[in-house]
Amino acid sequence: AHLDRIAAVDGAVHAFLHVDAEGALEQAAAADERRAAGTPASALDGVPVAVKDVLATRGLPTTCGSKILEGWVPPYDATVVTRLKQAGLPILGKTNMDEFAMGSSTEHSAYGPTHNPWDLERIPGGSGGGSAAALAAFEAPLALGTDTGGSIRQPGAVTGTVGVKPTYGAISRYGLVAMANSLDQVGPVTRTVLDAALLHEVIGGHDPRDSTSIDQPVPGLVDAARQGAQADLAGLRVGVIRELGGEGYQSGVETRFRETLDLLVGAGAEVVEVSCPSFVHALATYYLVMPCEASSNLAKFDAMRYGLRVLPEGIDSPSAEEVMRASRDAGFGDEVKRRIILGTYALSSGYYDAYYGQAQKVRTLISRDFDAAFGQADVLVSPTSPTTAFKLGEKLDDPLAMYLNDLATIPANLAGVPGISVPSGLAEEDGLPTGFQVLAPALADDRVYRVGAAVE
Ligand code: GLN
Repeated sequence: AHLDRIAAVDGAVHAFLHVDAEGALEQAAAADERRAAGTPASALDGVPVAVKDVLATRGLPTTCGSKILEGWVPPYDATVVTRLKQAGLPILGKTNMDEFAMGSSTEHSAYGPTHNPWDLERIPGGSGGGSAAALAAFEAPLALGTDTGGSIRQPGAVTGTVGVKPTYGAISRYGLVAMANSLDQVGPVTRTVLDAALLHEVIGGHDPRDSTSIDQPVPGLVDAARQGAQADLAGLRVGVIRELGGEGYQSGVETRFRETLDLLVGAGAEVVEVSCPSFVHALATYYLVMPCEASSNLAKFDAMRYGLRVLPEGIDSPSAEEVMRASRDAGFGDEVKRRIILGTYALSSGYYDAYYGQAQKVRTLISRDFDAAFGQADVLVSPTSPTTAFKLGEKLDDPLAMYLNDLATIPANLAGVPGISVPSGLAEEDGLPTGFQVLAPALADDRVYRVGAAVE
């Protein structure tokens, strides 16, 4: 049914870069047999899933939305993909994304943008717009995304779907093509909070292949989501982050946010206002740390080991450096080049202390703001995205306007704490989806599921 739906609508939505109909049907048939024998591999055995194209999938192309990896077929699976297979989930295919996960609209994909199923003229968010659009268009019931600065949660908000960024280290990054290692995290993209919890329990848990993986059992997320659905939050303290609202936030987004707060109060929660003064520097901090790490990660695309190789024109026997330059020039898009330049500049000798070093200090201040706020509240909340989905092309030539979409999502990545975005209704002025963000302390992922399920 999902393959039929993809065939019917993906020409207009373009959520997928690659569909593996044959493989998915084979895996589905195997799941049917296990179910018939009464021995399903997991609760999700046979439920298909779409995977963001930044995760390595053995035998399936993995491009990261970039021309530089066009045609690359990984010889191995990311750990999360191995876990999907072990749990019996057929893999439908790979979803579109901004090139190397850099962007907030999926317009920076080298393979053309994804369209928001709510209005095909609008963006589906980014960088994981493909996964979110696949869910919103009913092309897939479950998907995986990755969130470095909001790429799971912001697409969730603008497509009316659920997205979770787990605690940093809670989900293996082995086989995830790194954008910024200290910020990246894999997570579920779904239509309900319970679905996200089920998927998170499949992919979560310690992995010795990822040195930053946390060696602790996954807290009971499905139980937390079921408990939350009872909408009894007596005794729970909810902190509204003062700095994530007001100027720059669309009025219809704020209205739905306040209505969702009323739901929390109705469920017995106590709502308090908290201040995180360093959050006003989060965007600037992120856009230093992230390009620094990304510029270093992307140095491996040297046209020698794998990926695109372009021979420069007019040179008879080009040097390795000339081949590298021609290949990187042709293989990387403008946004990726912009960030490589930003990152290498900020890391260069003489500037390191002024930019990267300074950003790391501010990052610590942001973590301390979280610590203080979690002293006053069990969870923190804000709108997920300051606006609803904007028109395709509207912010493409204005990087700063694009970066401002991540205002509310970035602090969680800088501090490594978990967050969820749940749909909070349609904005009055444009009839488009809005998202409600819930953040919890590191390792308290169960709280975001509980509160998310209560307001869903
Ligand atoms: N939009 C942010 C960026 O462009 C976040 C990306 C992400 O989370 N992968 O960097």
